[in-house]
Amino acid sequence: MAAIDRSTPVHLVINPQSGYGGRQLVLADFRAAMAAAGLPMVEYTTRGPDDATRYVRDLPGKASAVVVWGGDGTVHEVARGLAGTAVPILACPAGTENLLAKELRIPSEPRRLVEVLRRGRVVDCDVGLVNGRHFLLIIGVGFDGEVVRRLTAARTGHISHLSYFWPIWRTFWEHDFPRMKIVADGQEIFNDFGLAFVGNISRYAVGLRICRDARFDDGLLDLVVFSCREQTALMLHAAWTLLRLHPLRGDVLYQRVRHVRIETDRPVPSETDGDVGPSTPLDIAVAPEGIRLLVPPPASGWGLWPWRAGDFL
Ligand SMILES: [Mg+2]
Repeated sequence: MAAIDRSTPVHLVINPQSGYGGRQLVLADFRAAMAAAGLPMVEYTTRGPDDATRYVRDLPGKASAVVVWGGDGTVHEVARGLAGTAVPILACPAGTENLLAKELRIPSEPRRLVEVLRRGRVVDCDVGLVNGRHFLLIIGVGFDGEVVRRLTAARTGHISHLSYFWPIWRTFWEHDFPRMKIVADGQEIFNDFGLAFVGNISRYAVGLRICRDARFDDGLLDLVVFSCREQTALMLHAAWTLLRLHPLRGDVLYQRVRHVRIETDRPVPSETDGDVGPSTPLDIAVAPEGIRLLVPPPASGWGLWPWRAGDFL
């Protein structure tokens, strides 16, 4: 059974700025595979920030699906425009950071992408709100907010993973951990120095799974708070997080929440879906309206083997 309605075109939203480099050829292959499958497609190339949001707002009723050719930032823009509508989104791993595409196990090979459109499943996905703004993946408060703030201040052009090295290095040595008061679903659960994350998916940059058990469709957000006052404690937290054992630690809080308020002893920046987000105080909750996503059909055979490489990317 087709996942999408063939009588309405698929809209392809291309972000020419996002990790695009060598992917022109792959895009040409995708166009050819769509034509071979007989799926009509309309292409749109974005012209700048928020252009994707503006474009897709006009699509309900006119598009059977929106294929996003970009990274998490572009998916975020499309999601903002389609929240609360029935139009499903296929997030292709075509940017620098593709956390959502990895979480959903979206393939990168063009013919397999077309197979997701033809035979995939449509699933509901929660969208979060931070101080009234949408987010899709994860918010970091404190340390990584500072990293992204420094990165953005120094940014001159396209961002690669290497661009993060100096901002992380400098922040690591210079960061002064804020004191945080965290109220989750009406209860104060933390009042100490540290860093906090609120996530809708498990994946975070560089293979870390900070919100390890997060599910994007459970109507809840995963809150992780690392109690931390100096650099050595942060190193230990990072090591336990790499091992994915951090929720078991006594100095880490891990819980599912509907609403969380984070206040700090001074305004600190947040990182929201990889970009600079609002500064504290933050009110974070699940938005009343979510989005719909196209995902591959349920895995079978080799797909269920626990050691397959994709799981660690
Ligand atoms: Mg969730």
